[in-house]
Amino acid sequence: MPRASTESGADVPGGRLDTQVIVVGAGPVGLLLAGELRLGGAHVVVLERRTAPTTESRASTLHARTMEILDSRGLWDGLPDPPNDLRGHFAGIPLDLSLPGSRPGQWKVPQFDTERLLGRWAAGLGADIRRGHEVRAVTDTGGYVEAEAVGDGGPVLVRADYLVACDGEDSTVRHLVGADFPGHDARRELLRADVEGIEVSDRRFERLPDGLAIAARRADGVTRVMVHEHGAPAVDRDGAPAFGEIAQAWKRVTGEDISGGTPVWVNAFGDAARQLARYRHGRVLFAGDAAHRQMPIGGQALNLGLQDAFNLGWKLAAEVTGRAHTELLDSYHQERHTIGRRVLSAIEAQALLLLGGPEVEPLRSLVTELIGHEDVRAHLAATIGGLDIRYDVGGPAHPLAGARLPRTPLAASTSASTSGGATSTDALRSGRGLLLGPGGDPNFDPNLDPVLGPLLSGRGIPFATPAPSAPGTEGAGWTLVRPDGHVVWANPPGRPPEEGLTEALNRWFGPA
Ligand SMILES: Cc1cc2nc3c(=O)[nH]c(=O)nc-3n(C[C@H](O)[C@H](O)[C@H](O)COP(=O)(O)OP(=O)(O)OC[C@H]3O[C@@H](n4cnc5c(N)ncnc54)[C@H](O)[C@@H]3O)c2cc1C
Repeated sequence: MPRASTESGADVPGGRLDTQVIVVGAGPVGLLLAGELRLGGAHVVVLERRTAPTTESRASTLHARTMEILDSRGLWDGLPDPPNDLRGHFAGIPLDLSLPGSRPGQWKVPQFDTERLLGRWAAGLGADIRRGHEVRAVTDTGGYVEAEAVGDGGPVLVRADYLVACDGEDSTVRHLVGADFPGHDARRELLRADVEGIEVSDRRFERLPDGLAIAARRADGVTRVMVHEHGAPAVDRDGAPAFGEIAQAWKRVTGEDISGGTPVWVNAFGDAARQLARYRHGRVLFAGDAAHRQMPIGGQALNLGLQDAFNLGWKLAAEVTGRAHTELLDSYHQERHTIGRRVLSAIEAQALLLLGGPEVEPLRSLVTELIGHEDVRAHLAATIGGLDIRYDVGGPAHPLAGARLPRTPLAASTSASTSGGATSTDALRSGRGLLLGPGGDPNFDPNLDPVLGPLLSGRGIPFATPAPSAPGTEGAGWTLVRPDGHVVWANPPGRPPEEGLTEALNRWFGPA
């Protein structure tokens, strides 16, 4: 295939554009993926059918792990000082989200702000984002993949090594490749409206005899109401429900009349649950809502998708730039399908408890009682926040292996010289992973070490040593961290690094 002549790819005769990765969809997942691909050195073209970014409010919660991820790419400062609420919930049952870590809680960021931030970042890194381009056909020849899009200037053909479908819950690409998408359609639904000019009291998750009612007034005077009538089935809809339908349901459940308000946005969402059987189909991969459909309870849908993109980006970049071990790309499906299945199952459990009628009350009482136990509370908070994710990274067992590295303060000497930051989060910004050493000689440079130097040669992995007694790393000597912040190998203090480091480097960072 002709190689790229620009950051996105090369125009070849006949009007075809060649690149390394095509991303279909410039939603939050596609944009984060595009940035990650660029950071890993891949050429990327994003094809998006909308001519302008969405202004719909959609998801408004970013959880702890997502915030850590954004922080590790220097994107935290780009968010407009988001409010944080540690008062979360599990199926509407109050759940304190406090946990050790740098960003616990629920950060309130409207989805359009997240998209704006990611879009600017990805474009700034050189991603070629082409709006007004709807993908209508995908061909995987085995040797390359082609996408045909229709744009303002007529049809466009793009050829690449891989294509990633980030085209949302009704994914065109999923239909085009005939991917198996098992699960079930919505059985029940919540009706939702953002309304101006109504006065109703705030309700977090009020369970009334005839249904569930939620109301929250925003600073701008708009009130978001959500309602579900016990026993009401999900409706097969072509578009959004009429505001009158929502007002009537609200009246039946709460007895209050909101029909005189002005709807700013109306929407219905159901408890459908589906997950692709395989996240990879040859040269076509899936991420975000294209890979899994779930009820957006507790704001987990968006977070799950963003974390897919963060797992995939560096692996796919390594693959198309020839740096990847043969099994690296397939670890995307193994890792993220497992996590997705777990999150979808927890969401289904919440949907049953939240939308069920009086028959679920005994179970709700039991769960409320269990949440009163600190172990259970912390477990659920970590699951919702994405902080307990542990990938199966193989290699020797170690308490840190597979887990995310929490933000770790670095020793002043190494932070300034080799890794370029005060914490491990800063040191991950280059997207090249991180090797943490056990400390000792402040001027130690592993690249000049006769044993380590050849191992690290050409891989560009930053090196740092934790600050003395940095929390979380007490039991580790040397620690190797992937670009997405997960530890792939650590050895006990006092052991030499060459024991096991070579294998871990080859597997996760490719041959030197
Ligand atoms: C109305 C609504 C309300 C929601 N509310 C919440 C909520 O409260 N909490 C929560 O957590 N989640 C919510 N979600 C879900 C959340 O918005 C999604 O999880 C999130 O947007 C997923 O991001 P994504 O990038 O995977 O997909 P999307 O954001 O859907 O992005 C997909 C992109 O692909 C583009 N596209 C689609 N087909 C093509 C094609 N053929 N060619 C080119 N481009 C294409 C689309 O235009 C879109 O820009 C809501 C979703 C919707 C639709």
